[in-house]
Amino acid sequence: MRVTEIDFSDGKVSICYDASLSEMTNFQNKEKIVIITDETIFDLHKEKFEGYPVIKIRGGEKNKKQSSVDDIIDQLLEMDIDKTWLIAGVGGGVVTDITGYVAGIYKRGIKLGLVPTTILGMTDAAIGGKNGVNVGMYKNMVGTTHRPQFILYDFSFLETLPAEEWINGFAEIIKHACIKDAEMFEELSTRSIEYYRENRSAVALLVEKNAALKISVVVNDEHETGERFLLNFGHTFGHAIENLYDLPHGYAISIGMVMAAKISEEINNFDSVSKEKLIKLLQQYGLPVSHKIDHKKVLALLKKDKKRSGDFINFILLNSIGEGVVRQLSFNNIEALQDQTL
Ligand code: NAD
Repeated sequence: MRVTEIDFSDGKVSICYDASLSEMTNFQNKEKIVIITDETIFDLHKEKFEGYPVIKIRGGEKNKKQSSVDDIIDQLLEMDIDKTWLIAGVGGGVVTDITGYVAGIYKRGIKLGLVPTTILGMTDAAIGGKNGVNVGMYKNMVGTTHRPQFILYDFSFLETLPAEEWINGFAEIIKHACIKDAEMFEELSTRSIEYYRENRSAVALLVEKNAALKISVVVNDEHETGERFLLNFGHTFGHAIENLYDLPHGYAISIGMVMAAKISEEINNFDSVSKEKLIKLLQQYGLPVSHKIDHKKVLALLKKDKKRSGDFINFILLNSIGEGVVRQLSFNNIEALQDQTL
């Protein structure tokens, strides 16, 4: 296990690469660790969970809701878990978001560790301290920020990750390349999901690069007043269409990135060759690049987005591949662009 310590204003987080789940005990006595995971992961990796009390939740985005949190809290109380314990979330973004939220509010805050098991979780969801659940159609509407003590990368979990979840995760990797890393964009262009699936050291390197990219953005902008907005590239439209059309997160983000690239071309001098390169890369990684969209419904959802301030919303555009930029767009502006461009 290789450990990198990241300093935040309210404490440090240990990032543990090339680790195994059992190495959680470097941070906390095994007798005082309770694991939260979903049924699928538990069934596929039973042997890894031996000796721990485990709370199993139903997986999937539709279960990322307050009632799942309430059920977990009931079970924690029944198990008599107190603040000397650590809660470890082992799973994809749904599990780590729910676990982080539970740890943030249970007994007004209890120790937390995260072990992401999807590409999306490893490169994005587990990093940054944000957590929460959806409220009906509205994504991540309630939640807290609660730092984990550690984020532990056990790549052996990826052996069971289904193909469609690899595709989902690569949407966020391509997002990172678009906003911050032109070199990684070029590298991705020469590879494929199959290459990464078959090559553990290549995927480990890529995950580490992406985790480091997100960590550096989060550390530079802990309170989300600037650079961190860039991570929302593709997500403003993406979240709206994810809920409206019940699309997997990565698929929705992919379509959202293409929409944002088209707007970038229209109002930000993003060149059309780069836009086409982005569309090609997304397709190369099995991601959709368009969907039949009811723009009025999308606009109504954007108005409920957390990034809204008054008549404006912070929107992420591209200057070029590898350079994202935050722009305030008015809803009138967006409506006109929807009619002309999308
Ligand atoms: P997910 O957690 O729903 O996992 C996808 C599916 O893969 C589930 O069915 C799960 O059971 C299964 N799975 C997970 N790991 C597995 C493994 N190793 N082997 C076999 N199956 C496995 O989805 P996700 O894509 O990981 O995360 C999406 C969520 O992350 C969304 O709710 C999104 O809002 C959230 N997110 C949060 C942040 C944040 O900063 N907090 C950032 C990005 C995304």
